[in-house]
Amino acid sequence: MKYVTWEELETVNHFLNLTKEIAKQATCLRDKCGSIIVKDNKIIWSGFNSPPNNQENQRRCNCDKSTYHPKIKDTTCCIHAEQRAIMDALKNNPNKIIWSRLYFVRLNSYWNIKPSGKPYCTICSKMTLDSWVSEFVLLHLEWACIYDTDEYNTLSFSYNN
Ligand SMILES: [Zn+2]
Ligand SMILES: [Zn+2]
Repeated sequence: MKYVTWEELETVNHFLNLTKEIAKQATCLRDKCGSIIVKDNKIIWSGFNSPPNNQENQRRCNCDKSTYHPKIKDTTCCIHAEQRAIMDALKNNPNKIIWSRLYFVRLNSYWNIKPSGKPYCTICSKMTLDSWVSEFVLLHLEWACIYDTDEYNTLSFSYNN
């Protein structure tokens, strides 16, 4: 993990703010998240969290996660913003995703960026790595940080608060 340098701060803040705008479109009732994938300072795709295929009959935002069987590992209700951005980028702009950078933002209740904690989503950490995204950007409380996706996956699986 590395902290964003002063030279890169303006660019990173620019993309984090755009990601915040994407997150505002999220239709999940539990959380509003956004993600954009950037290559050579151009956005190649973006995504926000919403039910699979946007089907209302598959909306699980109000389900009690503790009622699922232990075999069900992924109890998040909606498709994650990162998953959506990656899947759509692969569909629509497949040649650009290699060595790209993914930005992720979660909103607080005032629709501002909520600082991220340590990485823990092993679904998205595996997907970013597997689709050749090379960097994952999070805004932590202290500063914006860039992770290699290889490191991000290792950290996600070793999450312990
Ligand atoms: Zn949801
Ligand atoms: Zn995720």
